[in-house]
Formats: sequence, structure tokens, C-alpha cells
Amino acid sequence: MVASLFFLDISRVLRFLKHHCVQHHPCFLLYTCYNYSSDILKKRKAGDPMSLLSCASGTSIWRGYDYYKEQKVTAYDCLTDSQYMGIVRGSEGALYTTTIDLLYPRRSKCNCPHADGRRIICKHMIALFFTIYPDEAEQFYNDAIKAEEDAEEYENEVYEKVVKRIMHMKKAELQQTLLDLLLTGPEWQYDRFVRSEELW
Ligand SMILES: [Zn+2]
Repeated sequence: MVASLFFLDISRVLRFLKHHCVQHHPCFLLYTCYNYSSDILKKRKAGDPMSLLSCASGTSIWRGYDYYKEQKVTAYDCLTDSQYMGIVRGSEGALYTTTIDLLYPRRSKCNCPHADGRRIICKHMIALFFTIYPDEAEQFYNDAIKAEEDAEEYENEVYEKVVKRIMHMKKAELQQTLLDLLLTGPEWQYDRFVRSEELW
């Protein structure tokens, strides 16, 4: 109890110092800690199969991102050059103690019902990670939006090609293609064609 209170108070002080002083005083100890961890993190970027983000499900990452935006990480502290501990507010208002290990993500821990005693990466861990590394949060969000836009663009391109191809098909080719589609497609498609054409 005393230890956790101490941790919370120290974390608040460190967080305050980080937000209000560190950016203007790069020689400050915390800044060194932050940068050192960033160097380690480079070995564990999102694309690295061993990175925290790579080990998490898409749902956990998005929920963690939401938690980060909603500022649900109430305190955090740097334990070692690659480990952080934080307090994260859950959806029901409960406070969870979360530890992330950037070098060995599977060693990260959280006492929420989802992750407690299991080697999984939960949303609280991701929220903590994004709070410590807001640039990574921004990068993740921009990458996700870009991927969505690329997928949409690709779908549009494919659709245009399909339309163009159909418009250039001859009648016999169209008839054969329709027949093939009806015979090899899902049954409901065939049934619907039979009903709509009133064959008898
Ligand atoms: Zn959790």
C-alpha cells in the first residue's frame, strides 16, 4: 500500500516534470531515460514480429488507442530502460496496474480480468505504451488511415476494371459467364435467378 502510494506520487511528479520541464531541459534525467528507451524501441518497431504492437490483436490496439486519447493512463513511471509501469482506468472505473516490457512484450503484465495471469497484450498495455510514446500513437493512427484509404482506392480500381471488362464482352461470352456464375456461385444466387426469371 505504502509502496503503491509512493509509486503514484512519484509518477505524478515525474509526469508533471516531463510535461512541463523536460522538453525545455534536455539534460534532465527523465529525458535521458525516455531517449534511451526510444533507442531500444527502434529494435521493436511495429513491423518487428516481437514488438508490443505486433503481439497485440487489432481490437486491443484500437481500444488501447481510444484509452490513450481519453487519457485513461493516470500515472506512469520508467522502471528500467525498457520497462514501464502505469495505472490505467478501466471501462468500469477500476484502476489497473499495468507493466509493459518493450524488449520482451510477452512479459508485460496487467491485473485486468482479460490479461491477469495470461501472456496476452491488453488494451491497458497499449494505452500505456501510446501515452509514453505519443509519436507511436500518431504513427499507428496515420498508418491505419492510410491502409484504409489504400484498400478503398484498390477496391475502386478493381471495380472500374470489372465494369470496363463487362462492357467490352460479346453476347455469347456474357451468356457463358452468367451461366458459369450461376452454376458455380452460392446456391441462393441460383435460386434467386430461378425465381426472378419465372421459368415456369
Ligand atoms: Zn489490462
